[in-house]
Amino acid sequence: MQAFDVVVIGGGLLGCFAARNLCRWKLDTALLEAREDVCTGVSRANTAIVYPGFDHKPGTLKAEMCVRANAGFETLCRELDVPFHRCGSLMVSFGEKADAVLKKKYENGHSMGVPGLRLLSGEEALRMEPALAAGVTSALYAPTTGTVNPWELGIAACESAAANGAKLCLNTRALAISRTAEGYRIETGREDFICRAVINCSGLYADRVQELLFPSPVHIAPDAADYLILDKAAENKPVHIIQYEPEDGGKGFNAVPTVEGSLLLGPSERDNETDFAVRADGLSFVRARAERVLPGLDPEDTIRSFAAVRPNPQREDGSSIGSFVIENPGPGFWSLIGIKTPGLTCADELGRYVAEKAAAFLHADANEAFDGHRSGIPKAGRMCWERRNAAIQANPDYGEVICCCEDVTKAEVLEAIRRGAVTLDGVKRRTGTGMGRCQGSRCQEKLLALLAQELGVSEAEVTKDGAGSEILGGGRNEN
Ligand SMILES: Cc1cc2nc3c(=O)[nH]c(=O)nc-3n(C[C@H](O)[C@H](O)[C@H](O)COP(=O)(O)OP(=O)(O)OC[C@H]3O[C@@H](n4cnc5c(N)ncnc54)[C@H](O)[C@@H]3O)c2cc1C
Repeated sequence: MQAFDVVVIGGGLLGCFAARNLCRWKLDTALLEAREDVCTGVSRANTAIVYPGFDHKPGTLKAEMCVRANAGFETLCRELDVPFHRCGSLMVSFGEKADAVLKKKYENGHSMGVPGLRLLSGEEALRMEPALAAGVTSALYAPTTGTVNPWELGIAACESAAANGAKLCLNTRALAISRTAEGYRIETGREDFICRAVINCSGLYADRVQELLFPSPVHIAPDAADYLILDKAAENKPVHIIQYEPEDGGKGFNAVPTVEGSLLLGPSERDNETDFAVRADGLSFVRARAERVLPGLDPEDTIRSFAAVRPNPQREDGSSIGSFVIENPGPGFWSLIGIKTPGLTCADELGRYVAEKAAAFLHADANEAFDGHRSGIPKAGRMCWERRNAAIQANPDYGEVICCCEDVTKAEVLEAIRRGAVTLDGVKRRTGTGMGRCQGSRCQEKLLALLAQELGVSEAEVTKDGAGSEILGGGRNEN
């Protein structure tokens, strides 16, 4: 049995930031994550946009948090040593109806003080972004829109929380929750946790985790989405984030020039599908949208597809909820249920919000020793030659390139494993291995060997992304 002041359930972006923000107070905090690593759920598959806030209803918590979060994103990313690209966005329309929608969004954003918004004519939009399809009739330019690698941000927040004293408990799924005289008991099938407060950040399962003890008036009705990634070398990529507002009011579309240099296209929308598997019709939809908005892109430059799952929050009558849902069903118990877009943008704001609630409930003192600075793994590919040379002199493993496409060295891979990567995807999320043109076909074998060696397991036991995704299927080491 382990005792804490606060237990956070779920190690996605929201849980990692809740844990980090709890460390601003003198509170013993644990972060329980069901999987073998953090940021393996919704936080690893989304559109990666740091929104400016013009899309939300003025006066709502969502709108306020989004505008504030966007303004503070450079500071946050500098503190956590995570690249952030404030590339700006153009929301584009191709007809009168969508032009009117953009005008409304402009007025909405303007009333909320979203900085720098401008409505552009089609010609102005084409001058700014020549890759757009001819026929664009207007664009809403938002210079403060940006992009960040979501999992890099979440892992950084988790490392920062751990460095400030939070205890990370992986492979630890909350299975049952009960009341005690002082607070709560959480059973995990391994050991029990007792605590005075609980923050439920379990993503797609947040309604069910709340229902382990309290009823949940909000239910998650998941649906799936498909995405494509185009290679860095693809031609005619936009430099801004492009958002498409269709004339028929249907599903929009985004093209995001990522911090890694690739182009993310999507999402599609598939009702009532709940797994992270891509579907051909969803990918066709994304391709068709890309062709409509950015016709110069070549589908042959596609290097990857992936699917995401949206945790859509619904009331008991089945109606959907547009606002952020933060439930407080019992004393010292908060649930973030169905937080979708802009949950990445607002992860720190939401974490701060629930941490402040818990600190007030527990009458906690501020932790003067909190240090928000965290250093990422020094990336050889981001070093100038002098720095890289010095890194090799200090550690020869910086001289051995493992992933040629993304220029990732053995030193980075070993450091990623030291910091908690236990799968191929865990290494990828920390270093970028396998994210380039060959998608890991050249480095996978070396990575398998390094993971097996460092974790003290056989190569057959190493997985791509957790149990059931063994690469070698148990065959190779027996030979
Ligand atoms: C398709 C899509 C696109 C999006 N695009 C954007 C965007 O461009 N910009 C933006 O700002 N936001 C975006 N978002 C929203 C954003 O991705 C999420 O709000 C954010 O990632 C937060 O996720 P999370 O932490 O709630 O969930 P997750 O990342 O899923 O984390 C929940 C964690 O809880 C764990 N868990 C579940 N049950 C238990 C249990 N019983 N015990 C212990 N652990 C448990 C899971 O294993 C998981 O790791 C998008 C979302 C989707 C779905």
